[in-house]
Amino acid sequence: MSAECIFCKIIDKTIPATIVAENDGVIVIQDRAPKAPVHYLIIPKKHTQNIASMTADELPLAQEMFAMAQQLSKALPGNGDFRFIINNGSGVGQSVFHLHGHFLAGKKMADF
Ligand code: AMP
Repeated sequence: MSAECIFCKIIDKTIPATIVAENDGVIVIQDRAPKAPVHYLIIPKKHTQNIASMTADELPLAQEMFAMAQQLSKALPGNGDFRFIINNGSGVGQSVFHLHGHFLAGKKMADF
């Protein structure tokens, strides 16, 4: 928990968000500025800044995020395709410094 972190406040339910799914380890919310018809944020409840900041004991958070992405994909129409993006650092667009994955689906996406 970080007192200034917007995602910690959403996890604590002290500020509102549209919650899509939740379990002991992660919460999933709708992104407030969606970039695709489906744009969820998969957020581990434990506060850590990003992949680079994760300690060895935090690496299982990645497994929890992937498991949730798998679960969410089963509810998608069609073949269940999705894109999963984690920004790591302001230089590539990270704006909230609490680890999260963007789960995007519902449109054709640009190649890298
Ligand atoms: P990133 O740029 O990878 O750090 O992603 C942060 C994402 O969080 C952006 O896509 C924002 O639109 C989204 N976001 C920020 N604040 C909120 C909020 N209060 N509720 C929902 N989404 C948010």
